[in-house]
Amino acid sequence: VEEIKEDVKATRRSLPIYKTRSDLLRTIRENQVIVIIGETGSGKTTQLAQYIYEDGFCNNGKMIGCTQPRRVAAMSVAKRVATEMDVKLGEEVGYSIRFEDQTSSGTKIKFMTDGILLRETLLDNSLDKYSCIIIDEAHERSLNTDVLLGLFKTLLTERRDLKLIITSATMNAQKFSNFFGNAPQFTIPGRTFPVKVIYSKYPVDDYVDAAVTEAVRIHLSTPITSGDILIFMTGQEDIETAADSVKEKLLNVYMKKYGISTFDEINDIEILQIYSALPANIQNKIFQKYLNENKRKIVIATNIAETSLTIDGIRYVIDCGYSKLKVYNPKIGLDSLTITPIALTNAIQRSGRAGRTGPGVAYRLYTEETSEDDMYPQAIPEIQRTNLSNTVLLLKSLDVDDVLKFPFLDPPPLQTLLTSLYELWFNEAIDNKGVLTPLGRQIAKFPLQPSLSKILLISSQNGCSEEMVTIVSLLSVPQVFYRPKERQEESDMARKRFFISESDHLTLLNVYSQWKSNNYSSQWCQKHFLQYKSLVRAADIRSQLLTVMERQGIEVVSSGSDWNIIRKCICYGFSQQAAKISGLGKYVHLRTGMDVHLHPTSALYGLGDLPSYVVYHELLMTTKEYICCVTSVDPFWLMDSGFLLYDIRRSKEIKEDKNG
Ligand code: ADP
Ligand code: MG
Repeated sequence: VEEIKEDVKATRRSLPIYKTRSDLLRTIRENQVIVIIGETGSGKTTQLAQYIYEDGFCNNGKMIGCTQPRRVAAMSVAKRVATEMDVKLGEEVGYSIRFEDQTSSGTKIKFMTDGILLRETLLDNSLDKYSCIIIDEAHERSLNTDVLLGLFKTLLTERRDLKLIITSATMNAQKFSNFFGNAPQFTIPGRTFPVKVIYSKYPVDDYVDAAVTEAVRIHLSTPITSGDILIFMTGQEDIETAADSVKEKLLNVYMKKYGISTFDEINDIEILQIYSALPANIQNKIFQKYLNENKRKIVIATNIAETSLTIDGIRYVIDCGYSKLKVYNPKIGLDSLTITPIALTNAIQRSGRAGRTGPGVAYRLYTEETSEDDMYPQAIPEIQRTNLSNTVLLLKSLDVDDVLKFPFLDPPPLQTLLTSLYELWFNEAIDNKGVLTPLGRQIAKFPLQPSLSKILLISSQNGCSEEMVTIVSLLSVPQVFYRPKERQEESDMARKRFFISESDHLTLLNVYSQWKSNNYSSQWCQKHFLQYKSLVRAADIRSQLLTVMERQGIEVVSSGSDWNIIRKCICYGFSQQAAKISGLGKYVHLRTGMDVHLHPTSALYGLGDLPSYVVYHELLMTTKEYICCVTSVDPFWLMDSGFLLYDIRRSKEIKEDKNG
């Protein structure tokens, strides 16, 4: 397949935003804050920063910053803009995401995650390096975007020369404008085609199955030139299952029809996946255009394709109706990843993706009644459904003393703020008066969630920070183990060889040590079904964390081979995420009394003699409540760690248990 040599200038001129260029620039020059509204694909993300740059906003030596809620978008857009400007990525145009900085002293346009800009305010609260900040995808209402908007309220009065541009899909725009004293709204006239929405007649049992059936049906019953297919799924797991299953079904049909025997012989279709943990080089493939008209793309994506990334040529959308969200219950202080029904606004965005290049069709794998009765009209902003310990800690570091009075676009539930304050106090990050402690200040210096920062600090005091920094780095990368569908048994065997039966954390450490002993080899990884790229990334993160530790004067010490001390530190850091055995593979979450299950990928899974007490890293809610990345702990450690304070009655049970 030949790639079309793209005329970049012509493409730029063909985008809807191009026609409004001079009006847009005038409005920006005349106002400190503006809200830009435009359909997905109108050119906001790729063009705005360039227009402003061309208009001379960097002539004073300052930069243009553009934030994205998603890492993948920040990377992909920076690459695109570098190509359009014909410069090398990392020079005039760069990007910065957590643990990865692709900018240089010559960078003029910097794409970054909203989290990165938030951390930059810690180092320089007036953001002096920037002449203009674009808060992109504000309608997504990510936690960090919301906090940034709150901070900008004060910052803009202190820095009259700083421009703020907020871009949003149509929903929510008024809210942003109101928040900044009726800032002008600028609408980019869209160009969209009608999309026919088809609901499922009956509720579907299995949305992966239903999506696959629909995609295969569309592919076989419509001309290839009628357009590409985009399937919305919830995450890596169901995306991979769907991709495999589409391949299998199509191969069956093609075998009978044309007598071919492998999928690679099918040359009229390309199946692409997109989710955040996917390596960047594969992600880029979704933008590839084909010269050969007899080829169709089936893209299977998470909600990242709703508005963040525009994929051209889509005429069919299949929407499973769900997405994976971080959900927090402030009453019990529990964070989890949960597959939840999307909101109506998301459903509308998803369907809209079918109508960018011509009239399209959207198949919703849920009934019309479901959409009317069970879906929220709008998604709940992240700030109202997530643990805010990290945010409160950051605000305290920025000298926002009374977080309850912070100007939130939508205030979080009071209960959540109180629980977060309590959690920080419990972790000794703030004192009785709510003032940041030296420990709190140290915790905030790490680009990590507070509990992970805390175990690094504890491990240093207990003489195992050398090992802990490795574990924390490995927890910060996507999947270490590789499990291809066609070689599952073999890869499961390979994984088991690394198991340390009392701990998934130690299992990860074991993988890393062995990789190190094998000279960080990629062949070795391949042989043992390990994701080489993830390990390389972990090694990189590890060295960055070591730098932070060194700067903080935190000692890096090794425990030799005393793994109990490591488990003890993990227990101290995660004592609020502890569970007690209640049956075969079943545990009771100690703080809440909720039933949880050991995830099948755990090293502890299938042990004849399961440990009585464990702590876990993450709670995953799919068909069941699963605890993932688990370590067995001694109940006395749990009590030592102050767990007692949380629930005296349960701790007493623990004690009685221990005494037989
Ligand atoms: P908006 O932000 O308004 O949704 P974008 O600026 O992201 O729009 O997209 C404008 C156009 O640029 C779209 O046609 C999109 O497909 C294209 N585009 C964006 N990123 C890339 C990329 N990495 N490679 C090729 N084309 C891209
Ligand atoms: Mg965009």
